[in-house]
Amino acid sequence: MKNRVMILGSTGSIGTSALDVLAHLGSDWEVVGLAAGSNAKKLAEQANRCRPEAVALVEPGSETTFRSAIGYAPRVHIGPDALSQLVDSVDFDCAVCAVVGAAGVKATLRCVELGKRIALANKEALVVAGSILMPLARKSGATVIPVDSEHSAIFQALHAGRKEDVAKVHLTSSGGPFRTWSSEAMEEATAEDALRHPVWDMGPKITIDSATMMNKAMEIVEARWLFDLHPEQIDVILHPECIVHSLVEFRDGSMIAQLGSPDMRGPIQYALTYPQRKTSPASRVDLCAIRQLSFQRPDVERFPALRIGYDVARQGGTLGAVFNAANEAAVGLFRDGVIGFRDIARYVERVIRDHVRNDAPTLEDLLTADKWARHEVAKCTVC
Ligand code: NDP
Ligand code: MG
Repeated sequence: MKNRVMILGSTGSIGTSALDVLAHLGSDWEVVGLAAGSNAKKLAEQANRCRPEAVALVEPGSETTFRSAIGYAPRVHIGPDALSQLVDSVDFDCAVCAVVGAAGVKATLRCVELGKRIALANKEALVVAGSILMPLARKSGATVIPVDSEHSAIFQALHAGRKEDVAKVHLTSSGGPFRTWSSEAMEEATAEDALRHPVWDMGPKITIDSATMMNKAMEIVEARWLFDLHPEQIDVILHPECIVHSLVEFRDGSMIAQLGSPDMRGPIQYALTYPQRKTSPASRVDLCAIRQLSFQRPDVERFPALRIGYDVARQGGTLGAVFNAANEAAVGLFRDGVIGFRDIARYVERVIRDHVRNDAPTLEDLLTADKWARHEVAKCTVC
């Protein structure tokens, strides 16, 4: 029996790497569904190559381009509900959830509800709706396996002991392109500067989130939900070489780390094949060639995002949705040249401060909070 895989966000950095991994894994694996936002040309090219039975394209304006480039007759879902329609129309075993941002939340939740294996890259789904997603997975029997390299590392390292013996997890961070920049220099940083990540090759939104360290803030919240940890059990350390992907510290002081090259094909493949391990297309680490691995404390004054991440993880409720939406909106304004780099954290902090939290939100409440936060960010630009 073949493993039937659906990729939501197939045209992005993770989606493209996932297709690479599936090509490497070979004929036991079959791509049965692909979905993208607006990149019709790339979606059609991927579909012509993998021949999924159905595809989804969210942006209706891209339909004509898609139809003229597709070389066979898959079922095609178009429009704002296309992702969920795709999920409901295809029989699949595993979904790679790799849409960027809150746009991926509903379809990810639907995959979880269906009790499937979820290779979860869309960390925003946990930041926004972790309080709904994880209980839903327990109820439906879905297996949620993180693709995020740090969380994949923790997931792997946790196999060394019992959950009740975990003292802490240490999330590693490259520190992004501004690790050594002063606050003053960061005030002047351009989108081009922020998009130049020193190690990882990723989509634009997560690359900017790495520069502000909002990405690490989200990963604190992601770890809180995935591994059912108290925020105090989640530590962040800088590790510019990006070889140690994260560590688990047990109560006896033993620390179990997972190491590998900075290549997302590693954690993507692990999420697909777990508990099996297969040879990987990712390159091998030569520790003697690297010679040194370094670790530092992050500077919370220069990177206030970390403080925000802990606050959001502690308070929960609708705050995750507000945090994520405010950040998405502020990153958009920064990329458009409307606000400065350091304004991203200022805007997010202001919107979080003004939010009246609902501690037991429904999905509807979370979506409303998301909308409210985007509106507040837009208002900030005129105040
Ligand atoms: P990209 O920007 O490269 O790709 C995003 C994907 O989502 C594309 O396929 C895009 O389609 C699709 N998309 C965008 N907007 C919508 C929408 N409104 N509806 C449906 N689909 C949409 O992002 P990445 O691959 O870098 O990141 C994907 C997710 O994985 C993010 O949550 C990120 O945080 C996480 N992640 C990424 C890592 C990486 O190395 N890249 C590492 C760890 C986590 P289109 O091309 O048509 O716009
Ligand atoms: Mg990560």
